[in-house]
Amino acid sequence: MKEFDLIKRFFAEQPVQRKDVHLGIGDDCALVSSGEHHHIAITTDTLVAGVHFFADAEPRAIGHKSLAVSLSDLAAMGAEPSWISLAITLPSVDENWVSEFCAGLFELAEYFNVQLIGGDTTSGPLSITVTAQGLLPANKGLSRGGAAVGDWLYVTGELGDAALALKMLQQEALVVPEHQEVLLAKLHYPKPRVLAGQILKEYASAAIDLSDGLMGDLAHLCQASQVGANIVLDDLPLSAELLANVGADTARELALTGGDDYELLFTVSEDNKVGMETALSNAGVKFTCIGQLNKSMKLTTTLYSNVVQVNAKGFEHFSSD
Ligand SMILES: [Mg+2]
Repeated sequence: MKEFDLIKRFFAEQPVQRKDVHLGIGDDCALVSSGEHHHIAITTDTLVAGVHFFADAEPRAIGHKSLAVSLSDLAAMGAEPSWISLAITLPSVDENWVSEFCAGLFELAEYFNVQLIGGDTTSGPLSITVTAQGLLPANKGLSRGGAAVGDWLYVTGELGDAALALKMLQQEALVVPEHQEVLLAKLHYPKPRVLAGQILKEYASAAIDLSDGLMGDLAHLCQASQVGANIVLDDLPLSAELLANVGADTARELALTGGDDYELLFTVSEDNKVGMETALSNAGVKFTCIGQLNKSMKLTTTLYSNVVQVNAKGFEHFSSD
């Protein structure tokens, strides 16, 4: 019991103090206010050792990622991250581990001005649950369901790097030493696209964050919006490191099906295309148009020429599995 009280002290030393938090850690509940004309976006993610991360992964990286995945969901809705609560289950009390975990978590929290307002600490197999909340001007949020036939399909950043890093750790792929650090950082320290989401809420018709792989997440968007989509394979944004280590075909496949990118996938109408591209460019956000939405609701051809067809029922890609 005393040991866990000690751990709680680490969490009490968090860096952010927001004005809209009236009561933070330490009481039965936290009290916050959202201001008028705002909705609150709320999302929860659990990361379990051995399932979502290697149990012996660097605690700093686990701290970063357990917050980053939730902030990525807020980004996909166009919400401004505000408050988090944390439920952490630890097999034993290791002060160094907790200290490093907090360093990773709080570095990201400070960057996005997010305050830890409560949580719980228990004993058991290592698992971390973060609930993140963010603010949205009322009726301004993005969802998966707003896309229309003819809208253009975009992604931020580059795809497939985290999937290659995972394959490297699982000894299923070889990566030259000079690229390992860059690729591992993509897996362990994803950057939630919060700024992009803030801009996109003014222009995009729909958005989703890429956690499970482009094809699967696009199928969710297609289902919610009742549209189909084409992806132009040559237009997929691939990093030099990815291409150098696996070649074009595998790089595309990792970009299409690998998880853990935490980039945003979003759609924009023809009318909003130029405004959106200008706004993202001015903010220094990297983005790529990868295809267009269509009305094809039945899964037809897998791959014709250079295009993959995706719709609500799922997708097929060019490998045979
Ligand atoms: Mg998500």
